[in-house]
Amino acid sequence: MPVLVLAEHDLGLLSPATARLVGAVCELGAVDLLVLGEGVDQVALDGARLLGVNRVLVGQGADLAAGLPDSIVPLLAGLAPQYTYIVAAAAAAGRDLMPRLAAKLDLMPITDVVSIQAPNRFVRPIYAGNALQTVVSDQKQNLLTLRASAFRPAGFGDAAPIEPLPHAPVASAARIIAAHRTESDSPDLSTAQIVVGGGVSVGSAEGFKLIEQLAITLGAAVGATRAAVDAGYAPNDWQVGQTGKIIAPDLYIAVGISGALQHLAGIQGAKRIIAINSDPEAPLSKMADAVLVGDLFTIVPALIAELDRLGVKR
Ligand SMILES: Cc1cc2nc3c(=O)[nH]c(=O)nc-3n(C[C@H](O)[C@H](O)[C@H](O)COP(=O)(O)OP(=O)(O)OC[C@H]3O[C@@H](n4cnc5c(N)ncnc54)[C@H](O)[C@@H]3O)c2cc1C
Repeated sequence: MPVLVLAEHDLGLLSPATARLVGAVCELGAVDLLVLGEGVDQVALDGARLLGVNRVLVGQGADLAAGLPDSIVPLLAGLAPQYTYIVAAAAAAGRDLMPRLAAKLDLMPITDVVSIQAPNRFVRPIYAGNALQTVVSDQKQNLLTLRASAFRPAGFGDAAPIEPLPHAPVASAARIIAAHRTESDSPDLSTAQIVVGGGVSVGSAEGFKLIEQLAITLGAAVGATRAAVDAGYAPNDWQVGQTGKIIAPDLYIAVGISGALQHLAGIQGAKRIIAINSDPEAPLSKMADAVLVGDLFTIVPALIAELDRLGVKR
């Protein structure tokens, strides 16, 4: 049953989420990877080496580079008859494209999938992650968005063929005026193995540098609570939770974070949690695998110094 996977990429680089999408669906059928944009040759080459990818289809053009659904959805709708599954990450693009494509094809999209149990059986969180719903689909085609962090990435192997995808450009009334980026060398938050998260208790954007310093030592991504983001201590795209990013690291170090339900909604996939909190009764302290009780401004520098002393550096 052929599968079309929409590749995630940014600044000419394939996103690690794409390997996870391919890893998740490669048992459903032969995977065609769809790479759309401009200047995406390297993305296509990297995507072609993912195990499970049968071929890479590359659509290039200014209309596609903007990533606007008005341009991309007609192209996807044209390809759709060839595929039993059309898959995207449950990130900004997938969330925007899939419902529109579903409306065009008269299908029900199955969104935010965290587990594929059978070719027609999908698990997805509901009620902000407080319950899991199993969806059995009897549709002849399935449009899926997957939480990439919930799946293991596909490995790399021999390169699959790359084919250009001709398309008739569709002009959109919308246009991108500016893209505001957070410059960072740290790993992608949604797929990082280690995440260090900071709460509003760090007290300032300057205080957040402490969180970043610990993250650099551990080769970790940096996350933040909404309270920290709202206070202007951390950028929006660091927010983890119900209205932020969903993460599933092997280790989550939560620094001065209370553990409100809306934050927990974003970290349920974390395999181990270490909480650093002055309150041993905080919800996150109670659910953590280990808790360092005390003042974060004492504990975090001591932790960094000890890691330095031990020569731990990722
Ligand atoms: C619709 C909606 C959506 C939301 N979405 C999100 C979301 O996506 N993500 C999210 O995070 N929140 C979200 N929230 C907000 C959420 O409800 C909480 O307000 C927020 O998560 C709390 O952030 P916090 O832990 O930084 O702050 P607080 O709840 O104020 O907790 C601070 C913690 O730091 C500890 N502390 C204080 N000082 C120190 C110190 N010096 N050393 C060590 N520990 C210390 C305290 O004991 C406490 O546990 C949402 C809320 C709503 C209503």
